[in-house]
Amino acid sequence: MALIFHSSIKRDDWWRAEMAKHVPDLEMRFHPDVGNPDDIEFALCFNMPEGELARFKNLKAIFSLGAGVDHFFKDPTFPKHVPLARVVDDELSARMTEYVVQHVLNHHRDQLTYDHQQRQKVWKVHHPPAATARKVGILGLGALGNHAAKTLASLGFQVSGWSRSKKEIPSVKSYAGAGELDQFLSEVEILVCLLPLTEETEGILNADLFAKLPEGASLINPGRGPHLVEEDLIKALDSGHMSCATLDVFRTEPLPEDSPLWSHEKIRITPHVASIAAPNRVAALVAQNIIRARNGEKLLNQVDVDRGY
Ligand code: NAP
Repeated sequence: MALIFHSSIKRDDWWRAEMAKHVPDLEMRFHPDVGNPDDIEFALCFNMPEGELARFKNLKAIFSLGAGVDHFFKDPTFPKHVPLARVVDDELSARMTEYVVQHVLNHHRDQLTYDHQQRQKVWKVHHPPAATARKVGILGLGALGNHAAKTLASLGFQVSGWSRSKKEIPSVKSYAGAGELDQFLSEVEILVCLLPLTEETEGILNADLFAKLPEGASLINPGRGPHLVEEDLIKALDSGHMSCATLDVFRTEPLPEDSPLWSHEKIRITPHVASIAAPNRVAALVAQNIIRARNGEKLLNQVDVDRGY
């Protein structure tokens, strides 16, 4: 029995050696060299081509190479009966928190304005409020949002978060469900999106939502590109209702050269790098789950396929 691996980053020899350290009897095959599809017991992948996973009739478990699993559900033939696990990892959370804190501080301290001023050789001082007077709101308080929220609170920010279920996080105000979204938004000056991409959250960052934020609010989106309606953001920035945005993820990646986002003076862009799972940590996590699956145990970080995350 074998594991089929698929990723756009080709490091086949590294993965073979790394997995052998943890599960010596595991045969690794690299897509598209599948061999007999009936031999495939496990799949470790990101953006597997549509229809491929459904060919493997003896799959015991599927593992995502990252925290997100929306890439699986784009495939209408995805075998929903097979247990699916994703990456939840302290280092991945810490890396995302670095990104969030970096850009919250940039927004808080008006760095974009100083970048423009530097290009024009303008020496002009602006006075941001203290962190204790700044309201940061996080959409999604899961593995990543929770970590970022705690860290921002420890820096003194007034932090709130919105999730499906209520959370108890020290110094973080928790809002839950559609009924509390408007109240959450009305108090947020810097909005961070760390939601998973599902049918319910696609397009959530739209004109309606932006209108509910206070004048001058800003956005940081390291969630997923399709959370954002890009035209609505541009309108909100151009009207002056929103002050700036930092975007890491896009509906089309790489971001096309003709996208107006590239050259918008109030937008900062990073190329989907907010937090990338370290392969050695993913390998160790997947190995644990292979052993669990072979023993008939529930997987670690198993995804609720019906909920979509
Ligand atoms: P997670 O642990 O599954 O957390 C998701 C959070 O979103 C939970 O708090 C959940 O609420 C909330 N949520 C989901 N659907 C909701 C809805 N309809 N209404 C309100 N709240 C909702 O996910 P995670 O590990 O934190 O990762 C979040 C996302 O970050 C990933 O899915 C991925 O898209 C993105 N990501 C991006 C990068 C990057 O480099 N840019 C890297 C890693 C991950 P409950 O807690 O109540 O269930």
